[in-house]
Amino acid sequence: MPDGAPYRPEAACGATPPGSAPHTPPAEAPRGAAARTLRDAASLVRAGLVPPQAEAAIARVAERYAIAITPAVRALIDPADPADPIARQYVPDPAELVTAPWELPDPTADAPHSPVKGVVHRYPDRALLKPLLACPVYCRFCFRREAVGPGGGVLTEAELAAALEWFARTPAVREAILTGGDPLLLSPRRLGHVLGRLAALPHIEILRIHSRVPVADPARVTPALAQALAIGKPLFLCVHANHAREFSAAAAEALQRLASAGAVLLGQSVLLRGVNDSVEALEALFRAMLRHRVKPYYLHQLDPAPGTARFAVPAAEGRALLAALRGRVSGLAWPTYVQETPGGGGKVPLGPAFPEVPLPGDG
Ligand code: SF4
Repeated sequence: MPDGAPYRPEAACGATPPGSAPHTPPAEAPRGAAARTLRDAASLVRAGLVPPQAEAAIARVAERYAIAITPAVRALIDPADPADPIARQYVPDPAELVTAPWELPDPTADAPHSPVKGVVHRYPDRALLKPLLACPVYCRFCFRREAVGPGGGVLTEAELAAALEWFARTPAVREAILTGGDPLLLSPRRLGHVLGRLAALPHIEILRIHSRVPVADPARVTPALAQALAIGKPLFLCVHANHAREFSAAAAEALQRLASAGAVLLGQSVLLRGVNDSVEALEALFRAMLRHRVKPYYLHQLDPAPGTARFAVPAAEGRALLAALRGRVSGLAWPTYVQETPGGGGKVPLGPAFPEVPLPGDG
């Protein structure tokens, strides 16, 4: 860019930096303006993440899609790198206002599978509970980008009660999955209340939470929040992270706290052009997860949400990346590569396929 600012239009993002790029965030917690979450175009310009001449275009994006970059995430961005893989996930781009013909406002079709507000029931034995639609950060590739935002979409007391009542009268559901938005934005008291109500149902055998908080806003993982997860039933926490650098020292502390509270940590990632679309970046990401007790669980093919085409990696390329990882990392570091089928049909594994090995006794 003319002024050297780390703005990342599509043309600047073709190159993929290695997953373990050596940017070192500051050791001390940010203060003053740097301690606030960036939520609009002017703040991004002031922070040097967007050049002044792009402010108006970014403001138009902000009218449609929420922006939030926490101090923790901002500290991970290397301002000297015009293709920084952390910035690419969170800094808006005017391309977001261009919807490709195949992109859908609700690509996973949550709405047709919602029996009551805040609940999605797609599979017989599990269901989602979305207690709020706010997030600590707003990812530019989010498949729920048309729904999430700081307005929050928090369930009212009556709506939450109705959602919990639905779980109580649906005994086929064995697994309750809290998602959103980000459930770890709830206060420890409210999160503990929701988890406790679900865990008290005899047919709920396990609980799961999907969250970006441990890497994007680790300071929120207080001892009280971690303790809210200690519910006496198996609780799996799926941590959304897409790049090795997201595992900062503060994230490590948050994950340690959550693991100590008894949560089983799983990792979920999205295969993203310019973020983790190389063998080196994926290897570094999955190794970082394991170092922090996070078992790589799913690598998602990008869902076709509006204005996200710049992140798309063809499935054939994804399969080749996964195949190249085989043997390079242990099986522990190997996630299942999946795609949501359009219309809410659920996830299908994308491979890669390997040649069948003849076994003794085979014909
Ligand atoms: S944290 Fe999750 S729900 Fe929120 S914007 Fe990112 S991907 Fe979407």
